[in-house]
Amino acid sequence: MSTAADAGGGAAGPDTDERAAWALAAAAGIHAIALPTPFAVGRVNCYLIEDEPLTLVDTGPNSGKSLDALETSLAAHDRRIEDLELIVLTHQHMDHLGLVEILARRSGARVAAWHELGPYLRHFSAAAATDDAFAMTVMRRHGVPETLATALSVGTAAYRAFGSRGEVDLPLHDGTVLEFADRSLTALHRPGHSPSDVILHDARRGIALGGDHLLSQISSNPLISRPLNGSASGVGERPHALETYIASLQATRAMQLRLVLGGHGPPVTDHVALIDERLRLHRRRARTIARLLETGPQSAYELACTMWTSVAITQAFLTLSEVLGHLDLLVADGEVLECDDGELVRFRLR
Ligand SMILES: [Zn+2]
Repeated sequence: MSTAADAGGGAAGPDTDERAAWALAAAAGIHAIALPTPFAVGRVNCYLIEDEPLTLVDTGPNSGKSLDALETSLAAHDRRIEDLELIVLTHQHMDHLGLVEILARRSGARVAAWHELGPYLRHFSAAAATDDAFAMTVMRRHGVPETLATALSVGTAAYRAFGSRGEVDLPLHDGTVLEFADRSLTALHRPGHSPSDVILHDARRGIALGGDHLLSQISSNPLISRPLNGSASGVGERPHALETYIASLQATRAMQLRLVLGGHGPPVTDHVALIDERLRLHRRRARTIARLLETGPQSAYELACTMWTSVAITQAFLTLSEVLGHLDLLVADGEVLECDDGELVRFRLR
């Protein structure tokens, strides 16, 4: 059984601060339900909000294991899937929304998500395939060898079954307020980790449900994602995910918060200190990349190989996203030039 107390997943168990944070959430009627995923990140935190409407924030991936664990955890709160009245999705990643179709069908719950996810989820298979084509284009243009890009896209397609199509009944915009009997949650758009990230803010309690926007134990990956209304070509429209993400972090930093309940790991209890730490990390990585460019122009893939060695191969898209994000910061600062010969993009110091 998954409970709030074990959602952190550490072998030593939660420390006193973490227990206090989960207790604060529970006092607000918010219970973490940690569900297994097949992904390297480990378990995903969904949240049951005991209010009217009875709400589940995120669903876990589309797997029997995850569904079983969810049913067991709901039972521990004397609830069943059929009791759910509202499902809110924090963003478009499969570990957060894979069960949405099954849960919505069984419960009749309404589904709320960032408004641009409506068409994306309705045509999930096609949208995921277009995402993969976009990722292939980005990888090719930034120097990832063809055989590696192809191998990775086969791997990605194999995981697609952990996602799901779904219908969004309640499209969220920046500032949409969800009203409950005992709380109001304001949806705030925080793109960067993905284009569709929203956090749900309870201003009265100073609590935010943060999805993967801000995680206590891992730095959220600012993955290069196809714009939700974009094509697969990727030419001329590569999103600057890290710059977008940093702007989102700064918006969250300005908020008054006691607790951010994240999609993985324990709650964040000092969001300002954590965000400052993340911002420093990104600055440091940008400096490292600037130093690597002193030897001459390089593609993002070459830089990723130097920085991450074999991980640049096994996690090529992730590390490429990281490197490109930091290169974007250097380009924006006027330190680095992006040189595109029409086939391969290289970066060099100005
Ligand atoms: Zn995510």
